[in-house]
Amino acid sequence: MSFLEKVCKEYGIDLYPLSVFSPVKGMEDFITRSKGGASIKDSEGDISIAIDDTAPARERDAIAAHELGHVILGHLDGKYKLSEEQCENEARLFSAVIIAMSLYDKYRSYIKAEF
Ligand SMILES: [Zn+2]
Repeated sequence: MSFLEKVCKEYGIDLYPLSVFSPVKGMEDFITRSKGGASIKDSEGDISIAIDDTAPARERDAIAAHELGHVILGHLDGKYKLSEEQCENEARLFSAVIIAMSLYDKYRSYIKAEF
């Protein structure tokens, strides 16, 4: 289980392969779709993230981070009047920071082990 899969589990977010993900009709306003992934909040408030299961593992982590960004930044809540482009830019930035932080933690572990 990857770091991001653990985070999603802690947030109670279900992860699905994109190939079996079929949004509920009428819920399109609560869905974000990106290349390789999608996130959805259903009528009961449950959140799911779908990830392209054919993508390499590192890419799946980036997709999960991007979709998690949509969730944590409130893009599925419909409260914020951001354009789709603004939401995508925020999710991209969120994903980049999460991936960089995870690499930094690995780098710090490597440095501690070496010196
Ligand atoms: Zn997106």
